[in-house]
Amino acid sequence: MKYDSSVDINIAKAPTSKIDSVDFENLKFGHIFTDHMLVCDYEDGAWKTPEIKPYGPIQLDPSAKVFHYGQAVFEGMKAYRDDNDQIWLFRPDENFKRINKSSARLAIPEFPEEYFFTGLEELLKLEKDWIKKGFGNSLYIRPFVIATEPGVLASPGTKYKFMIICSPAKSYYTGEVRVQISERYSRAADGGVGAAKAAGNYAAQFYPTNLAKDAGFQQIIWTDANTHEFLEEAGTMNVFFRVNDTLLTAPTSDRILDGVTRKSIIALAEANNIPVEVRRVTVQEIVDAAKAGTLKEIFGAGTAAVINPIQGFGYKGEKYELPKLTDTYASFFKNKLMKIQYNLDKDQFGWRY
Ligand code: PMP
Repeated sequence: MKYDSSVDINIAKAPTSKIDSVDFENLKFGHIFTDHMLVCDYEDGAWKTPEIKPYGPIQLDPSAKVFHYGQAVFEGMKAYRDDNDQIWLFRPDENFKRINKSSARLAIPEFPEEYFFTGLEELLKLEKDWIKKGFGNSLYIRPFVIATEPGVLASPGTKYKFMIICSPAKSYYTGEVRVQISERYSRAADGGVGAAKAAGNYAAQFYPTNLAKDAGFQQIIWTDANTHEFLEEAGTMNVFFRVNDTLLTAPTSDRILDGVTRKSIIALAEANNIPVEVRRVTVQEIVDAAKAGTLKEIFGAGTAAVINPIQGFGYKGEKYELPKLTDTYASFFKNKLMKIQYNLDKDQFGWRY
């Protein structure tokens, strides 16, 4: 990770802060943004000097390629404040690598590592008061890149904007979540963009997710596009199944996002002698396990909610309920991860930054 004090960043501070008008006890996820944002333009084959400036609207030509061809990628990460007022990021190198992997897949030029880390740190220094103490409080950080070049020719742009915006977040409780296993729709295909955090992936999920909601579920478990026999992701999270005491999750591929939370859970499982199998998981084996009573848990894993327990699922018109356990893997991993994130536990893997 390269913070580089020799990187030039133009900083224009906001004349006043909105922070006093924010109700930090009642934050809705992703609705309020901090006082500043980072903007860096790509032109003439190079990323220009990054700027930090007051948060606000940006002006784009209506023909900018992002609007027509969806050439856009993004990331999601968080900053945490510990009890000694130190600010921590969790495995930000993974987000940095992933945004460039996503960019490469969308024919967007990669962003320099020293710009990413220096820009992010300078921005967080300005916004540190927005990162509140307390287990579960965090600052959600949204880096993204969009194609800004005007012109409605379907070809990659030569002008881009890399930006970082930040939104204060509280730990989020989703209530009981029941999911529909998708029999028809997929979020990704072989050779497609599922492994990229491409904006269009999310737009394409809204309609099937609405159908699942109409059918009484909160989310979808995506199955593979070819056969719909294999379980891939849950909504915008990676998905884990606990059958007896074994944890199962699908391997990453060009259809599945290589989630930071997912890979951290796999590492924690291995370090805590929890049997974990990273392999393709069939819908049939999960239905069979639910019928046999050996399916103990399903949970989604991702930065925003850390871990999202799933209480039941629907498949082919049948509904399946999971047992209500007291000692869950979901709470074990959530607690372990959050204690590392908030500097309340030793960091045996070197994940804190
Ligand atoms: N899958 C998808 C499709 C996602 O959008 C996300 C959220 N970034 C994840 C999985 C979880 O990834 P992470 O743990 O890195 O947040």
